[in-house]
Amino acid sequence: MTLADWKAAAEKLSVRNKAFIDGAFVPALSGKTFPSVNPATEEVIAEIAACDAEDIDRAVKAARAAFEDGRWSGKTPAERKAVLLKLADLIRDNLTEFALLESLDMGKLVTDAAAIDVPGAAGVFQWFAEAIDKIYDEIAPTGRGNVAMVRREALGVIGAVTPWNFPLDMAAWKCAPALAMGNSVVLKPAEQSPLSALFLAELALEAGVPEGVFNVVTGFGETAGKALGLHEDVDCITFTGSTEVGKYFLGYSAQSNMKQVWLECGGKSPNLIFDDCEDLDAAADMAAFGIFFNQGEICSANSRLLVQRGIADAFLENMKERAARYVPGDPLDPASTMGAIVDGRQCDRVQAYIEHGKTTAKLIAGGERVTVAGKGHFIQPTIFADVDPDNRLSREEIFGPVLAVTVFDTEEEAVTLANDTIYGLAASVWTSNLSRAHRLIDVLKVGTVSVNTVDALSPMTPFGGFKQSGVGRDLSLHAFDKFSGLKTAWIKY
Ligand code: NAD
Repeated sequence: MTLADWKAAAEKLSVRNKAFIDGAFVPALSGKTFPSVNPATEEVIAEIAACDAEDIDRAVKAARAAFEDGRWSGKTPAERKAVLLKLADLIRDNLTEFALLESLDMGKLVTDAAAIDVPGAAGVFQWFAEAIDKIYDEIAPTGRGNVAMVRREALGVIGAVTPWNFPLDMAAWKCAPALAMGNSVVLKPAEQSPLSALFLAELALEAGVPEGVFNVVTGFGETAGKALGLHEDVDCITFTGSTEVGKYFLGYSAQSNMKQVWLECGGKSPNLIFDDCEDLDAAADMAAFGIFFNQGEICSANSRLLVQRGIADAFLENMKERAARYVPGDPLDPASTMGAIVDGRQCDRVQAYIEHGKTTAKLIAGGERVTVAGKGHFIQPTIFADVDPDNRLSREEIFGPVLAVTVFDTEEEAVTLANDTIYGLAASVWTSNLSRAHRLIDVLKVGTVSVNTVDALSPMTPFGGFKQSGVGRDLSLHAFDKFSGLKTAWIKY
């Protein structure tokens, strides 16, 4: 599609702006709304229902009623599979609309949304749908005289709270396994990016997910999100977002019904480039992709580049050249290579880090906030060299296109630097020495180590972090652990 095609499609786009509760679009009970703004143009896309505790309560009651009467939880796994496979197809059938909703709502390149986010979400629904009728329960090895069954059961009502960087994919990562397992869901999308979740809910109903099973409640974190976290009848919270807010959810649980809390939080992921890496061009390509893709708004962004001294100068020259390939532009233009930052506030945050870097490290690329056609919130791909490990640029999650480079001499020093962080989400290692790769996999304290690539992930493999990057894992069969409880049934005979 050309820019003109995307613009024409955007003109025709219909936007759902109410909450989706008990199978219908409804306004907030208070009647309040908030604007959803396109960060590339600063134009208001729609006024969205600003839901509050009373709307959350309504959604939780609908979800509970649906769970208890078995309209979804009582279906066989094969029946739920058929419905969720249909939902995956509907997501694919509506690829253009979803890609536009993502791009307009949070600023990402529409071509990336169409090539990566939307097929990714459909793939996740398909994967969990296909998996659910292939999971067996257990019989414990008690010996004769007893049968001890270990059964996996749906938990009940799942509260899902998601961020704005991959709105559709994060909703899919949570809702696909939760629904496949037979739970009911109340999803609270980020206030910056509610549009794709609302469309997903509509399609879920069309696919055959019964009324009340999948609810989307739009609103702010401090109101709707908090009410979900504190609700006495929610069995589990699955959250993706910042470490700061993740900690709030642990508190909400403690203050209410001790609901299970699963957290996918922030990161400050290191990318280690050793001088024995055979393909330094590929390493530079992927190092740039690892921090500049999606404007650097990625929890597992490779935001710390640790490079071995002997190759550091040449590698940084390569990185400068790679950074120049990422040029902020109209997110609807297929020729653009970088989109807009989600909103003005996040842009201010990123810019403050850049200003700090200008006085404490060496700026070698980018460093400016820009507009496109005189509008919007954009930041150039930015690289700082000579960044001290104690600098805020090395320690704090910026969540923007800002790379901090530090040089190391030995493998031991690289590992110390890599692990010197409160986070533990991901790390990348570039080396052609197999023993070194295994040694590093042994000692890096992260949920995913990518060797000779960055940010490797798939529905087949668990995703999540150690330390303050969170608890629990999304994706893979392990995701079902979040959304089910084990029941032992012991029969003596
Ligand atoms: P955020 O923590 O500000 O918001 C995430 C969600 O929590 C939103 O829906 C928001 O409305 C809600 N929320 C905010 N304050 C709340 C409160 N006081 N009580 C209840 N809910 C509240 O995060 P964000 O800015 O939307 O997203 C960026 C963050 O998400 C980054 O830290 C990033 O690393 C993280 N993230 C992590 C992963 C992962 O899998 N580990 C993936 C993507 C993003």
